[in-house]
Amino acid sequence: MNFPLSRRRFLATTSAVAASGTLLGATRALAAPATEPTPDWQNKPVLDLSQSPHAKLRQVPVSAVTVTGFWAPRRSTNVHASIPSMHDELLAHGRLDNFLRLQGRSTAPQRGPLYSDSDLYKWAESVAFALQSGPNPGLRQTTSAMIRDIVAVQEPSGYLNTYFVEGHKSERMLQHTQEVGHELYCIGHLLQAAIAFYRATGDPTLLNAGIRFVDTYLLPNFGPNPGQTPIIAGHPEIEMSLIELYRTTRNPRYLDLAGYILHGDPRWTIKPSAIVYMYCGIPFTSRTKLEGHAVRCMYACCGATDYFLETGDPAYWTTLNNLWHDLSEHQMYITGGVGARAEGEAFGNPYELPNARAYGESCAAIGNMMWNARMLAASGEARFTDVIERALYNGINSGMSLDGKLYCYRNPLAFDPTTGDVIRNTWYDTTCCPPNLERTLASLPGYVYSTSKEGLYVHLYDSNQLDWHLEDGTPLKLTQQTQYPWQGNVHLTVTPARATEFTLFLRIPGWSQSNTVTVNGQPTAGAQPGQYLPVRRQWHPGDTVELAFDMTPQLLRANPAVTEDIGKVAIQRGPIVFCMEGLDQQAHPAAINLAAFRAHTSTQTTTARFDPNLLNGVIVLEHPGSISPITEQAALYEPATASPQPGTDTTLRLIPYYAWANRSPTAMQVWIPEHEA
Ligand SMILES: [Zn+2]
Repeated sequence: MNFPLSRRRFLATTSAVAASGTLLGATRALAAPATEPTPDWQNKPVLDLSQSPHAKLRQVPVSAVTVTGFWAPRRSTNVHASIPSMHDELLAHGRLDNFLRLQGRSTAPQRGPLYSDSDLYKWAESVAFALQSGPNPGLRQTTSAMIRDIVAVQEPSGYLNTYFVEGHKSERMLQHTQEVGHELYCIGHLLQAAIAFYRATGDPTLLNAGIRFVDTYLLPNFGPNPGQTPIIAGHPEIEMSLIELYRTTRNPRYLDLAGYILHGDPRWTIKPSAIVYMYCGIPFTSRTKLEGHAVRCMYACCGATDYFLETGDPAYWTTLNNLWHDLSEHQMYITGGVGARAEGEAFGNPYELPNARAYGESCAAIGNMMWNARMLAASGEARFTDVIERALYNGINSGMSLDGKLYCYRNPLAFDPTTGDVIRNTWYDTTCCPPNLERTLASLPGYVYSTSKEGLYVHLYDSNQLDWHLEDGTPLKLTQQTQYPWQGNVHLTVTPARATEFTLFLRIPGWSQSNTVTVNGQPTAGAQPGQYLPVRRQWHPGDTVELAFDMTPQLLRANPAVTEDIGKVAIQRGPIVFCMEGLDQQAHPAAINLAAFRAHTSTQTTTARFDPNLLNGVIVLEHPGSISPITEQAALYEPATASPQPGTDTTLRLIPYYAWANRSPTAMQVWIPEHEA
């Protein structure tokens, strides 16, 4: 058996911990956890990279950034409508009863799929991030009570799960259960919620339960050692959670356990189709492409990047970069969504990017953002931020309705309501996406900036105030004033506590082919699309930076290998991808569907106007086009030699993709057939 580094390190730390007498055996299961979270719980970011040796950038805490611009009403809706209404849905669908039943406080039968515990955990995590932005006594009290009900059913062994009990107890952690049962997926979400709640409140109740599961149930019984049962992450999630637990406690056994899981355990034989679908079971570093279940794949990439950030293993970085090129060159929708196929909720072949059949699960787009945030931290390269922005403003933002109470599971790029498909719903029995969207919006301030040894990175543009410090400890405030993403001008005011030399890294978005940057009114050269512009100088309190990005709408074509998009264009303005909805094209009721519309491409004469009364305020684009005489009377086929009937000139009206399906059901398309001149 040829185990690599991860097993050697695992064995070394295991024996070292055992020798020191701090290895907690099963007989001490009810004792306090062997690992205590560090006491400095406040002011921690989403990912605490403060001691990660291979992180070039370190995130700033959610609490350090006050967002007041584009994302502010969305985040307010999240806290005041989405999170409370999802709480009611979770209770109405028995998610808490599953815990109360095991305490004898409910007679309701087990409800929901076997991964239902994770719904509560993800919801609690979104509350935790909301609390990091400001107090909310009601939400905190509700969540603290929920946490008490969760930890009350933890068994003396440390085991915690409301499905694999009673008649299902004998199935725990069997190979088949590990492949499909989501036990460690649920614990991974418990850990993420626990860490976020601890960092919000200092309350370690849930965190201690998570540590107890890992210390007393998992580590003694499962792993690479002789006599231990192997681990398979049937749905990756535990890897990144264990590594954040390592960052929270500094216990290296969690990092090594994550490395062992990422490597896979050859003692168990796994079907090749399962290795593809689960994106685990073989060494992560042997992967050459994105495949299988898209959310599993993205979460595995998150865990692997976290592992690289801590270990610097070059094989991981090589693999991660190869996979990223597969993402950006073959697999990602223009919306930042991923996962083309409904069957298996999976990646397709390279360039397989259907529009109406696109799966584009909200969770997969979120996984894409989470992965790219980690790649950004490892490298400081803006190509990753471009993906974050694309996914965030489009394929993630589309996942929640404007009123915050309806959610998309799929995020297709074309839609026909006559199929009967209802795209936005209050509830899905697999309700992974709604609380995932909620935790993403709640944690969003933590993605706007990073620090490095050289200074401060500005990743995302939106009106906000940063109140944090440079890595040398110098207090630093920075204010952004902008109408981004509707306008391309951004005004920054930089206020270090005292005049200080450092580098301000300004992201120049990849879509911004024309831009200007001035510092205190003086032009600054060197801005390149898709890169950070480093501005190193002595910064004085009140210094200003003006950025101006050209917001001219851009018509984009897909690689011809994307067969569904041949002869079509999409329109993007700034970071926002636009779409046509049928009800905005009211002048042409004869059209069977949106395919009748054509976009002129010979001239770039798209006009943009802000409509404050439409869809909570959006830019509406108008683009010259034509409508073909497609009617039900036309033949299904006709000789190609016949000259097509000329179209009638019309104006195409487009709204931001994220805002689609917020009015009455109507057809939608992102990719528009080109008008043949
Ligand atoms: Zn989902």
